[in-house]
Amino acid sequence: MNTTELTLDEIYTLARTALLNAGSNEEMANIVADTVMRAERDGSHSHGLFRIPGYVASLVSGKVNADASPKVENITPVMIRCDADNGYAPLAHARCLDHLAEATKTYGIAMAQITRSHHFAALWPETEALAEKGLVAFSCVNYMPMVAPYGAKEKVYGSNPISFAWPREGKAPVVFDMATSAMAMGDIKIAARDGKELPPGVGLNKDGEPTTDPKDIDPVTGGGMILPFGGYKGSHIAMMVELLAGPLVGETVSFETAKKDNKDGGPPAGGQFILAMSPEITSGTKDWGTGADSLFDRLKSFENLRLPGERRHKNRQNTGPRSVNSELVEKILSLS
Ligand code: NDP
Repeated sequence: MNTTELTLDEIYTLARTALLNAGSNEEMANIVADTVMRAERDGSHSHGLFRIPGYVASLVSGKVNADASPKVENITPVMIRCDADNGYAPLAHARCLDHLAEATKTYGIAMAQITRSHHFAALWPETEALAEKGLVAFSCVNYMPMVAPYGAKEKVYGSNPISFAWPREGKAPVVFDMATSAMAMGDIKIAARDGKELPPGVGLNKDGEPTTDPKDIDPVTGGGMILPFGGYKGSHIAMMVELLAGPLVGETVSFETAKKDNKDGGPPAGGQFILAMSPEITSGTKDWGTGADSLFDRLKSFENLRLPGERRHKNRQNTGPRSVNSELVEKILSLS
């Protein structure tokens, strides 16, 4: 694979120019480009520049509102509704996360329910932002059907990621962010692009037979399906995500979402569930971090164990250029 060296500023500008050229208003282009740049900076490659062609496709097709202006309102003091106005999710987050944090610091717990949002990014930006404000956060989104529930040979669930963040005084939060499918769709597409085989247990082909070929697993181009992580247990977590990010917030489950999507390659409109808690209020002490730190210290005492989020935070220390697939850079330049 040929690569091109790009500084973080160049990555931001490349993404922003493509989005503006596709008609995005300036606020959304700036926020999405920043999310893309931070994904590349942290090494979340499947949700960085790789997503720009999809972001552009949905702006051009009109599925995503290029002039979105999300609205935030309280349903109750602890329930914040954000209508994303069919824009990209990072814009909705920019409008509602501070509001959610404020409510959580007042009442101890609060949730944001985001509707009509197109989520095409990693989830850690929103949970980590809340943890950086001293809050415990959990979030999930559903997507398009691409995962076969345990026992089925048909696509019903999305790859339904979940993210959890725990704040730490004077240290980076501990954050995990993972698809509930055996592998994230972006990584399957990257493996297909790079001609790599996948390990057994990731997916099935269009006939429901196990395969290690990412092209056959790809639900869109190959007609196949991904398996849930962890067998029936992961399958139930994926079901929970369908419900929390769908009906609970007044949105659709993944297979219903697919019926209204124009399949232009970009993300469908859907819901997001974000829960935030103040550990200071729930534990009743300002010393809430001590018990958690004892767990993290114990975990860190094992030679081969690392905490989730550590890889990203380490990558973040490097402010130098990043190596990006040259073909992808050319493709984005052609869109700009
Ligand atoms: P990974 O399997 O790469 O990682 C999952 C989590 O485990 C991360 O928090 C990671 O931390 C941590 N981790 C990975 N390896 C280790 C290890 N050896 N020891 C300890 N912790 C480890 O993530 P996925 O491929 O499942 O998901 C990738 C991304 O895709 C996520 O950001 C997710 O939000 C996104 N996604 C988005 C969707 C959407 O609709 N918007 C749909 C599906 C997925 P670290 O980051 O530090 O490596």
